[in-house]
Parts: sequence; structure tokens; C-alpha cells
Amino acid sequence: MRLKNKNIVVTGGASGIGRAAAQCCAREGASVAVVDLDGEGVERAVREIEQRGGCANGFRADVKEENQVRDLFDTIGEAFGHIDGLIHAAGILEGALVPVDEFEEFTWDRVIDINLKGSFLAAKYAVPWMKKVGKGVIVLIASGAGVKGGSSSVAYGSSKGGVHGLSLVLAAQLGHRNIRVHGVCPGGIETPLKMRVVQKQADAAGRDVAHLAAGLGDPEGVGNILSFLVSDAADYVRGTIFTR
Ligand code: NAD
Repeated sequence: MRLKNKNIVVTGGASGIGRAAAQCCAREGASVAVVDLDGEGVERAVREIEQRGGCANGFRADVKEENQVRDLFDTIGEAFGHIDGLIHAAGILEGALVPVDEFEEFTWDRVIDINLKGSFLAAKYAVPWMKKVGKGVIVLIASGAGVKGGSSSVAYGSSKGGVHGLSLVLAAQLGHRNIRVHGVCPGGIETPLKMRVVQKQADAAGRDVAHLAAGLGDPEGVGNILSFLVSDAADYVRGTIFTR
């Protein structure tokens, strides 16, 4: 088991990629802190892990609120004793298919706050705990959107380009502290976030949603990569990872 004796924080752990990552980390022997804004979803995810014999604790927090993120890492750090890895998967996609000249400032601010500021805050408050143990791994979930190409949402693609940039800046800043930082860019993965967009695209095009969803990947496929990245087995991996 690759993550025995490791404490891993997974944000966005109530659903989709984060939930799969939390399950994969627990399967590899980690104690997992499942974090999400969706409190019921957190409870469900923790129960699922425990039913499979894994170890998890749940925490509700909004990643765009600095005081909540500060308190969250204080609470997790004190409860677990140390933090070895952060998988930051909390995120939203809003404003899909809206042209830039009709895009609402409110939606722009909300997406940037949750996706980009949330990534900054999670890293900001995870790093002191990693400095304490002299090593750590931070994995920020970006996307192909805004990194390799376009996006259905002006704000989403922009936020993910920012998250990728943040991962590069942090990798350069924290490497000498023995803290490894990656930006992970998943392809199209079948999650509630993605399916809402696919449904909207299907409605707009008058097409069958199942047809558009064919070929989307399984969250567990990305979860396996994320749990590998926070392990010591990935010590020699560097930089951005693109997944299916
Ligand atoms: P999802 O909607 O299934 O899961 C996202 C989780 O984040 C939800 O549980 C949600 O409650 C939580 N969340 C949202 N706002 C939050 C906040 N303010 N504070 C705390 N938690 C919050 O979506 P997913 O597809 O699993 O997305 C996970 C990550 O992967 C996101 O960053 C997304 O942008 C990224 N991503 C997804 C795809 C894809 O095709 N699904 C592709 C590339 C990148």
C-alpha cells in the first residue's frame, strides 16, 4: 500500500474526481480528510470509504473563504498530526455556452474565486504543515481548458489557465523545500460538473445527450493517477500531467 501512514487532504471530495481520488488514496492506506462545501456529500463519501475498510474524516468548508480554509487546515493538521499531501479538486463550471459579450461579471467573479482563489488558499494553508515535516505534495486540478485549448465557459477556461500557472509558480517556489507541486489536466471525465455542460450542449444542438457523453472518462482513472502522485513512488515526477 503506497500511502500507508500518509495523511492526504482531498478537496471537492464529495463528488466526481475528488471523490474518486479520496477512495483511491484510502485504498492505498492513507488517512483521508474529505473536504467539500456539500456537507451531506462529505458524509456519503466518508461512509463509502469506511465501508470499504478505509480511513477517512469529513470536513465542510468553502474554499473561496480564507477564514474557512485557515480553520480547516488548522483543524485537520491538529487532528491528524501532520499533512503529507493535498489534492485540490474543488471547482465549478458555470457560464457554459455564454458568449463573452454576454458573460455576467457575477459569474466571472464566482468561477475565478472558487477555482483560482480557492487553489491559492488551499496551497497557502497546506504549505506550513508540509514545511513542518520537511516534505509534501500539492496537486492542483487544472484542465485542458485554458491550458491546451478553449473552453465552453469564458471564466472556467481562464480560471484553469490561472490554476495551471499557479502550479508552475508554486513548483518553482517550493521545490527547494522538498514540496513537489503538480498541475493535473484531466480530459473529459463523466462527473456531475461535466454532465451538466454536456446536457446543455445536447439541448442547444438538439442532439442526444448519451451520444455526446460517449467517450467521457471514468473519474477513477484520474483518481488512480492522483493517488499515485501524492505517494513517494512519484518522487521523480515533475510538472504538468495531462490525463485522458
Ligand atoms: P464535481 O462537480 O463532480 O465535483 C466538484 C466538487 O467540488 C463538488 O463536490 C462540489 O460540491 C465541490 N465544490 C464546489 N465549490 C466548492 C467550494 N466553494 N468549496 C468547496 N467545495 C466546492 O466536478 P468534477 O468534474 O469532479 O471536478 C473536479 C475538478 O476537476 C474541478 O476542478 C474541475 O474543474 C476539474 N476538471 C473536471 C473535468 C471533467 O471533465 N469532469 C475535466 C477537467 C478538469
